[in-house]
Amino acid sequence: MFVDVVVVGAGPGGLACAQTVVRQALGRRVLLLEAGRGLRNRPCPVDRGLRCTGCAGICNVISGFGGCMHYGDGVKLSLLPSGRRLIDHFGEERAGELCERAFQFLTAPLAERPVLHGTSLGAPVIKAFAGNGLAIREYPVAVLGETQVRDMLTALHGFRDDALAVWEKSELVAASLNGDRLTVTAATPGGPVTVETAHLVLATGRHGVTSTQNLLTGFRVETIAPDMSLGVRFETRAEVLAAIGVEHPDLKITQLEQVDRKTKTFCFCGGPNGGRIKFTNYQRSFGREVITLDGHETTERGPGARPLAANFGLLCQLARPGTSTEVRAEILSDYWRLSGGRPVAQSLRAFMARTAEPRSWPELAAAVTFEPSVKDLSTARLDNLFTGGEHASLIESFRRVMGSILDHAGAGMSVEDLADDVLVIGPEVEFLWDRVPVDEDCKLSGLPIFVVGDAAGIAQGVVQAAMMGVAAGDAIANGKPA
Ligand SMILES: Cc1cc2nc3c(=O)[nH]c(=O)nc-3n(C[C@H](O)[C@H](O)[C@H](O)COP(=O)(O)OP(=O)(O)OC[C@H]3O[C@@H](n4cnc5c(N)ncnc54)[C@H](O)[C@@H]3O)c2cc1C
Repeated sequence: MFVDVVVVGAGPGGLACAQTVVRQALGRRVLLLEAGRGLRNRPCPVDRGLRCTGCAGICNVISGFGGCMHYGDGVKLSLLPSGRRLIDHFGEERAGELCERAFQFLTAPLAERPVLHGTSLGAPVIKAFAGNGLAIREYPVAVLGETQVRDMLTALHGFRDDALAVWEKSELVAASLNGDRLTVTAATPGGPVTVETAHLVLATGRHGVTSTQNLLTGFRVETIAPDMSLGVRFETRAEVLAAIGVEHPDLKITQLEQVDRKTKTFCFCGGPNGGRIKFTNYQRSFGREVITLDGHETTERGPGARPLAANFGLLCQLARPGTSTEVRAEILSDYWRLSGGRPVAQSLRAFMARTAEPRSWPELAAAVTFEPSVKDLSTARLDNLFTGGEHASLIESFRRVMGSILDHAGAGMSVEDLADDVLVIGPEVEFLWDRVPVDEDCKLSGLPIFVVGDAAGIAQGVVQAAMMGVAAGDAIANGKPA
């Protein structure tokens, strides 16, 4: 069997690439492989207050049609200059054009173009943050609620074209060069299938971190060590983060001069309806099971007996001695020793003081004034995952960010007032995997292979992955030589 293009991964990067090729290069046949389950068949036990079971080896939060965009969750679409490394990668003009096309691609199915927030911030919010020595990065953000994400994914799933075949539960397991073509093997429900192709697009995201790295090593691609970050998520009452969440739904504050180690807020899940914490199970990608955190904003949850929670991540860039492989191994072995690779919680008071959390998880969860968004946790010394410098930087950064948020909200509260009403949950990680040396078409030099989205290790995000997918799709559709 021959197809012109094999796209691996049906997340935003792979979907944008496949549809760009099909729409532009009439008649070119595209096969889209997705290792995970179908669009509506991705339940997560953690979402239902149950324990993460790994979902039979394929985490439904990060795999399946839609990739990390999960049917039933909300999504923030953050436009440039969020993901500014893509501006360096593509150049300002091309990056701007790709960003607009990616946004169009994602939102075209919606009844109305979503409203963008996060720019033209008011003087009071700028003043509140400046008072703590901080500057807010302004960029446009659209918050898509749960219904909008369902509509978007349903439309992407429903896209039909004779030139496009989508195989779900089908995982790329091997690829080899055969002249100027590639022979790829997919493990499908019916058994292994071999396909010849002229172009291979790897849009494999987090589920594919190890397998993609191994595949590229087999092609003698030299990847680039990442700037790894490690951090935590702070969860508190939605009311506390509501005002700032309305002002800037994806608040990103970088702190460099103020602290020993560079930190940044990450994946802000505030807004009037707060947000939820998700578990992302990397399975055995790193040798033993590892579960890390993510979050998503919600717009449609109803409150239960207690007020809703909201959260945001705070990451610290690591500058530990050793190669990135050694540092990653150190982080992971500390995490396995701490909790067997499962997320843990500490009260803000215990995390700040670097003391053991005296309470069990049920006791800690019952003590806060809001309903924690996940139930599958235990208490442990999360602070022990960080060096002294990293911990001090996280605490100082948190004080400044939360101090500014409270000042802006005008609630007359201090960070100390929240010490027993914030859960610190972690770990959160960014870029545990290498960066891939792709060109401005997201292509590897001398190979008919493209790497887009999270797998490329350049910039994370839904719009950012779709931008890279569109760029690769353009190059393939326009028949650029290998
Ligand atoms: C819970 C959560 C919430 C997030 N919220 C936001 C948000 O609000 N806004 C934002 O901008 N970003 C968010 N992100 C990050 C964002 O979703 C990712 O950066 C983005 O989805 C990356 O897109 P991608 O196409 O590169 O990869 P992914 O979305 O990860 O998709 C990759 C797909 O490839 C498949 N795959 C992997 N290996 C193979 C293989 N060998 N064969 C076949 N298929 C394979 C996987 O199963 C997966 O479905 C969130 C991430 C998570 C986990």
